[in-house]
Amino acid sequence: MDCPEWNDTLALWDEAPKEKRDEADAHAATCDECRRVAEGWKRFEEALLDDEDEVDDPLVREKVLAAARASLDGSRRRLVILVVLAIALLVATVLVWRSTGSDAAERRLIEAEDQLTHGDFEDARRSADAVLSLPGASELEKEHARRIKERAR
Ligand SMILES: [Zn+2]
Repeated sequence: MDCPEWNDTLALWDEAPKEKRDEADAHAATCDECRRVAEGWKRFEEALLDDEDEVDDPLVREKVLAAARASLDGSRRRLVILVVLAIALLVATVLVWRSTGSDAAERRLIEAEDQLTHGDFEDARRSADAVLSLPGASELEKEHARRIKERAR
């Protein structure tokens, strides 16, 4: 059974008036499909709200959630969820990838500085080159690496 009249209430649960939510609850108790949809939304929101390791920016989470709610339209809902999840995953991957790349750059820079102070110029140049070729290195870190290369001449 398809129940389009309950779709919006289930999706926009927090915004729905109490009376509507009570009606939806009463209906879901008798309707497998609506119960599954409601359960799915709950899990979807929990996944977005709880997974702080993957999406640690509350603004991103809020936006993704708002986008999911705003663009709802019964038949397109499943597609929207997939797109939103894909975006959330992409954002999470970029955040993780960036912080990993930046950590590595920082370690190599400390290493290079250390090599410089010990007069290991060739090693210092090699460490600096490694930073320059790291995709996750920030502009600031790359600039630091270039300066180390100058000093290691
Ligand atoms: Zn139903």
